[in-house]
Order: sequence, then structure tokens, then C-alpha cells
Amino acid sequence: MRYQIAAANWKMNLSWDEADNLLTEVLSLTASVKESQRVVFAVPAPYLDMAVGHIADKFHMHVAAQNCHSKKSGAFTGEISVQMLNSVEVEYVIIGHSERREYFNESNQFLAEKIDIALEYGIKPIFCCGEALPIRESGGQNEFVSTQLQESLYHLSAEQVKQVVIAYEPIWAIGTGKTASSEQAQEMHAHIRSELAGKYGREIADQISILYGGSVKASNAKEIFHQPDVDGGLVGGASLVAEEFVAIINALK
Ligand code: PEP
Repeated sequence: MRYQIAAANWKMNLSWDEADNLLTEVLSLTASVKESQRVVFAVPAPYLDMAVGHIADKFHMHVAAQNCHSKKSGAFTGEISVQMLNSVEVEYVIIGHSERREYFNESNQFLAEKIDIALEYGIKPIFCCGEALPIRESGGQNEFVSTQLQESLYHLSAEQVKQVVIAYEPIWAIGTGKTASSEQAQEMHAHIRSELAGKYGREIADQISILYGGSVKASNAKEIFHQPDVDGGLVGGASLVAEEFVAIINALK
């Protein structure tokens, strides 16, 4: 189902008390989330259970992990399995954030394994893709993102791919204050949707949420989110400030 989604990515920030307060504030300031919308909080692992408790009686709000391991269980010290996430009622997981790709060398093929195991346990992947600045400057962004989709997603069946949320996050716009223009976002989102249509058919492609990520804030969210192929955003820095994130939720189509 193609929901309009505001997803907060807190990354490695906040103490327990700060996280607790931020969730309390965001929830108290958020009037209601429409049937066609979803709000997702990707919180650090130690706060997953707390976040699930916060949203337990809220409609259309969900908790996401920021990462998962590709195996069910075993001798992988420090890692978190989707089985564990499932057991604490986490419903989404970010897979392939550019920071994981860059600092932990996560390849498209490895991410494909994570996608598979998440889907096996009924957890919806938020699959991140996007190009670095030199690729954008040389005009190779469409081809680059197509390869990311091909190598991480295209082994999925149509039924499986419908469970995946895609987040287009140009690396040059993440945490830099430099946002892609709404035209650049729309152009890439339309490209992603047409690639998905080529592989799975238009009907399936039209059911997949494609989020934009990269310095989204209250002041630019509405213009970006109202592009026809943009279905909301994955938000880092601005999701750490309650009023900012609530304004971003309110900017959803
Ligand atoms: C992100 O971390 O996914 C992100 C888009 O960060 P920011 O909004 O801070 O650019």
C-alpha cells in the first residue's frame, strides 16, 4: 500500500530521558495521522521497546530499527536479528542507509540478504538508495540508483516488493543542509517508479511508497512532499526537534 510516510531517523543520538521526552512531545503535538499516512520512529536499539510502548495506542504510528543482521541468530556478537525485532513488535527496519554502506561496507548483495530476512519475519524494510556528489555531478545518478535497486531488490516477487518502502537519499544532501530541489527529487522518484514498473508492472510500482531523504525540514517538506512521486520523507536532524518533526508530519500529502 502506497502510504504517505514521515519517518524519523534519530541515528546515534539522545539519552533514554531525552528519547522519552521527545516521543512524549511529538505524540502530544500530533493531532491525528490520516488513514493514508504513516509515522515511523527509527530509534536507537536500546529504546525500541520504550518507543513501542509510546505508540501502542496510536493509530498509524510505528517503530523502526535502524539496522538488522542478515542471519536469524548465532554467534554475531553485538548484532540484532529481525527475530528479536519481531519479538518486541518492531514493524519496520532501515536497510542500507548510506552511513551503513560507507562506514560498515554494506554492499548491495549483503543488503539483499537483509531485505530477505526482514520480509521473512514480516518486518517492512525501508531500503535506502542514492548517489554521492561526484556521481550526481557526472550525471550518472539514474544508472547508479538503478543498479542499487537491481542488486538489492529485483530478486523479490511482486508480492514481496510491495512490502518494501524505498527511501531515495542523495548522499550529498544528508546532514549537509543542502536539499535536493523538488524538481531533482521528483525526477529521481519518477525514475525509480518507472524502473519498478519496468520490472514489476505499473500497478505494483504505483503501490510502493518512495520517500525522499536529505536535509528535510519544516520549511521545505511541503514543497518536496507534494511532488507526484514523492510519498513523504526519511528525516534525520529535523526529527530530533519535536516541533520540526510534527510540522513535517503535517506537510504530508
Ligand atoms: C538521514 O539520516 O536519513 C537523513 C536524511 O538525515 P538528514 O535529514 O539530517 O539529512
